Amino acid sequence: MQLIHIKALILDMDGVLWKADAPIGDLAEIFARVRAQGLKFVFATNNGTRTVDQYVQRMKGFGVEVEPWQVVTSAQGVAHLVAQKFPSGSKIFVVGEDGVRHSLEERGFEIVPVERAPEAQALVMGIERSITFQKVVEATLLVQNGAPFYATNPDKTFPTPRGEIPGAGAWLSVIITATNVEPIIAGKPSPHLMEIALERLGTTKAETLVVGDRLETDIAAGQAVGCPTALVLSGVSSRGEAEAWTPAMDVIAEDLSTLIELLKA
Ligand SMILES: [Mg+2]
Repeated sequence: MQLIHIKALILDMDGVLWKADAPIGDLAEIFARVRAQGLKFVFATNNGTRTVDQYVQRMKGFGVEVEPWQVVTSAQGVAHLVAQKFPSGSKIFVVGEDGVRHSLEERGFEIVPVERAPEAQALVMGIERSITFQKVVEATLLVQNGAPFYATNPDKTFPTPRGEIPGAGAWLSVIITATNVEPIIAGKPSPHLMEIALERLGTTKAETLVVGDRLETDIAAGQAVGCPTALVLSGVSSRGEAEAWTPAMDVIAEDLSTLIELLKA
């Protein structure tokens, strides 16, 4: 493919920019080059635990100034999906963290505590690091009773410097196993976040490169929406897995720094 036609990037975060708290390369220097090359960019992450503002602050901490419009999270995506079906003020039971809670509250939904979970009209689930058995029970009963089951993302694991720890998908599987109901997923590989990102960038699909570290979410979502795709090897998927993936992605690079160099006209 002709990388010189690329005018914008949709970037995954975990495994592309950082692993847990450790940045992958000198992010300030990398994004200075991105800007110098005239590339627009939006981050699209399946990680729904943090709010947009928390991501903006995090990037600032790494010396990169970004605007809130440049961050699309699966928490925003899931709130967007819920709002297509339920009016503001509807009661929602959430298994999730700040990102999901904030996005739902922003749209006027009432998040019910676990003691009042049976009142909820829908379940929204992501990863919650303080998950309890009681919350899993209430979530299961809601879905068994027919409440729509929404999820931020299906990632089975989450990259950390020590290895892969259980991601939202691993926790979703508990509810899926107990209910035989599959969730409606906002995050990648659904093209939903890509569509929101493209709308914000204002670029065409052909000139927008989707960059990620995980084949079955990032690359699949980019391919689903019809953008060129690039896999970086700094996160979850290996070169061997990438080479076996069909249809083939457009670029495989060691990391984001190397990829930006390849995009030089
Ligand atoms: Mg990732």
